[in-house]
Amino acid sequence: MPPAYFRYILPHNAASDRDILYFPYWRFKGMIFSCVTGGRVDDRFVDTSQQAVASRHFPFSAGLRPQVGKLTFATKKSDGRFIHPDVAHGDVIDLFKNSLTRFLPRPIYHQSYVGDAISLLYAPFYVSGRLYDAVLNKPITNDMPEDLVATLDKSEKIQNETRFFSAICPACGWNLDGEKDASVLLCKNCQTAWQPTNKGFTKLPFVCLTEMGRLKTSLPFWRITADIDDISLRTIADLSRLANLPDLARRKDAQIRFHFWVPAFKVRPKLFLTLCRRVTIAQPRAEGDHKLPEGTIIPANLQVEEASQTLKIILAGLAKPSKVYFPKLNQIRITPRKALFVYIPFNEDHHDFVQPKLNLGLRKRLLTLAGNL
Ligand SMILES: [Zn+2]
Repeated sequence: MPPAYFRYILPHNAASDRDILYFPYWRFKGMIFSCVTGGRVDDRFVDTSQQAVASRHFPFSAGLRPQVGKLTFATKKSDGRFIHPDVAHGDVIDLFKNSLTRFLPRPIYHQSYVGDAISLLYAPFYVSGRLYDAVLNKPITNDMPEDLVATLDKSEKIQNETRFFSAICPACGWNLDGEKDASVLLCKNCQTAWQPTNKGFTKLPFVCLTEMGRLKTSLPFWRITADIDDISLRTIADLSRLANLPDLARRKDAQIRFHFWVPAFKVRPKLFLTLCRRVTIAQPRAEGDHKLPEGTIIPANLQVEEASQTLKIILAGLAKPSKVYFPKLNQIRITPRKALFVYIPFNEDHHDFVQPKLNLGLRKRLLTLAGNL
């Protein structure tokens, strides 16, 4: 999704005549799944930040402020001076890996990071004899550190404007439905779905599983077809053997291709993984309408690239016994080949979404809570 990463500004509380200086932090926000001993998959949601320029004078992380402050996008119209990040965006995830895994038991057989890409967060400061935090309006140094000048010299105005494509349907010119973080936008006029890319919108084929009922609410999923090396998982019958689920082998379609299923929306990691497993074990047939579902449509905000990060974690949860498979996870190669965008219809009552054919329910409250994930 354009641009390569988002830049946000934390609002300051300083007097309006202060010359605000923005110090950069890399922020990682997303889910981490780790295969650890005992056949356990550890899941956690993380929102953390770390200096994007090494400095003794500024706080090491932006702390809890990004979660409580209202962030705005940094553009070339933003006032203030911005310190340029030292660490390249591509190297940042490695910085975080150490701090994010130190709580886990060893060995870690496999780990996946899923969710938002890394973003850059500018926190406000100002100089007045010493260095001040412009959120709290409190000094953070006792005097004016001499070597601070070198850091301040790296400040600049923002050059690149955060670009958004106008959300207009390329096919019919109608306004597309979708929030800023949407991974798929919909045109309700010509019944099409669109994926934002660097070059604009690409049309996305989709199917709505109306064979499972014409129900009130539709939830988006990615059905991902992948090549798997070092393990036999090509058909539903293979899944039956691997996961020790004999009922699957008795299905009429046991010889057709196996697919991974991943929610295309963000929820708490535990529920996310449960949905992956439950729908992947069910192996629903992708049959139904090729037009948008009627009723409520839950927006898709997880990109297919992100969803693909979970495939090995799903496999790890399915393969039995895990004692045998966990140590092999590193050697197993999973290459996603094809993705289909699918809406699964759910009934809706006061508290839950329920899919009767899949015998699957989820608390509506958990989807609402996921709004700020
Ligand atoms: Zn259209």
